[in-house]
Amino acid sequence: MTLSLTVLGTASPHPAPGRPRSGYLLRGEGAEVWVDAGAGTFAELQRHTDPARLSAIWISHLHADHSADLLSAVYAFAYGGMTPPAPVPVYAPRGCAERLAGFFGRPGTAFLDGVLDFRALHDGHVARHGGLRISARAVRHDTETYGLRAECAGRVLAYSGDSGPCAALTGLARDADLFLCEADIDTHREGEQVHLTPEDAGNAAREAGARSLLVTHVGPTLTPEAATARAAAAFGGPTATAQEGHIVAV
Ligand SMILES: [Zn+2]
Repeated sequence: MTLSLTVLGTASPHPAPGRPRSGYLLRGEGAEVWVDAGAGTFAELQRHTDPARLSAIWISHLHADHSADLLSAVYAFAYGGMTPPAPVPVYAPRGCAERLAGFFGRPGTAFLDGVLDFRALHDGHVARHGGLRISARAVRHDTETYGLRAECAGRVLAYSGDSGPCAALTGLARDADLFLCEADIDTHREGEQVHLTPEDAGNAAREAGARSLLVTHVGPTLTPEAATARAAAAFGGPTATAQEGHIVAV
């Protein structure tokens, strides 16, 4: 498998038994990247790899449902004997280290330096690990948020992060083999465009020319089945529901 996605968690906004919040493991030609660290995903990650050997961690935004399990990683790496051979690069919006240090009640972030190496994301940011190229695009949310485009040996996976409808999403998913896209809400509330309806997700996939759509991060006003059916109708292409434990070849 050249490029693969392992689903660790999909829940929004809170975890449920067997269903952690957002998190994925991306693998491509010698690289393993933990994408989003929603609560519960650090435990699931250990089913699939040794977290101390991760090539990198990539965080779309600092909302707790995508970043809270960085705390678990720090405990494991710094105090749990799961010591990484070198600090693990963490690509995340600015302020991530300070947020983590706050949870530990520490005045500074220096104590994190031995285990994590924070690198601020920006629109157009590119990182390379092994044969994997991951780039970030700023998307539309109520805090600084990025979608991800991963490329490896000609295969492309795009991930929406959390986003309202925006042109960046279609750019991100342009001709992607797999578009992992949130479908959090049933309908838009007046003046709010910070998440996608299933139709938005399907339309974005269609406009981008994506080859397949994987629906994730379905909120409490929808069921994953209903969201997937609605997204599929709008997309008109192969559509599935992201499910914990599934490993998808891209
Ligand atoms: Zn979220």
